[in-house]
Amino acid sequence: MSDEVDVPEDHPRYQSLVTRHRIEDGVEKGITSTQGLIAEGRGEAFDYLLGEETIPSADRAARAAAAHFLLAEHPVISVNGNVAALVPEEVVALAGATGADIEVNLFGRTAERVQAIADHLREHGATEVKGLTADARIPGLSHERAKVDADGIYDADVVLVPLEDGDRAEALGEMGKTEIVIDLNPLSRSARTAAVPIVDNILRALPNVTRHARDLAGSSREELEAIVTEFDRDAALEAAERRLREGALADGE
Ligand code: ATP
Ligand code: MG
Repeated sequence: MSDEVDVPEDHPRYQSLVTRHRIEDGVEKGITSTQGLIAEGRGEAFDYLLGEETIPSADRAARAAAAHFLLAEHPVISVNGNVAALVPEEVVALAGATGADIEVNLFGRTAERVQAIADHLREHGATEVKGLTADARIPGLSHERAKVDADGIYDADVVLVPLEDGDRAEALGEMGKTEIVIDLNPLSRSARTAAVPIVDNILRALPNVTRHARDLAGSSREELEAIVTEFDRDAALEAAERRLREGALADGE
């Protein structure tokens, strides 16, 4: 992220420019695919409409996600090329706060890209990175897109899949996993199939889940289960859509 110093911090679109630089860097390093550039553009448009802030319903979703992580037997954070380019340290921090595994999981899988992402995550403090073995398959998907680690996502009970493609999000849900999705588009199938859709920029959402996880670390199972039960996914999606369509004054939050 050598280029970040070139963007003046008082630039009104500082965050968005930094984000673009990171994605560009990711493409240059072979971490992010060119498709990832398109996903970034889509995300930016939604973030602009959201007001580039964590809306209250997304904060509640982040807290419910943290509670799920702490209750899980085997939580896994799935990492693709955009996630690795944008928030490598934040992924490592969340894994540290919750005991989750980190697994590289790509829509357009190539051995080189999986390796480049794993190396990049290690450079940012990850000790163990899964996804290189790819010795199990998600049922219902074509061969390459189905590959996961048997002792990683395949075995997980709770999976965080940020910026995931809708098909794969659905297939993971059908395996009975509790899915937490981070996606700026509340209408995308990924967000709609999630047990916990966090409609927020991953730059804000990941540190927010980590903050909630640290805050809830001393809570009892009963307290965590109450947070999970009280979270209303449909209401969260509706609140996000209202914010997108009508702006901050109309969403009642
Ligand atoms: P589907 O309906 O199948 O889910 P999709 O068009 O959403 O299809 P992609 O283009 O792969 O499929 O999805 C990328 C998603 O990631 C988009 O919904 C986009 O809004 C979201 N996204 C992109 N950048 C970010 C980001 N920084 N934080 C959160 N979400 C993001
Ligand atoms: Mg999607």
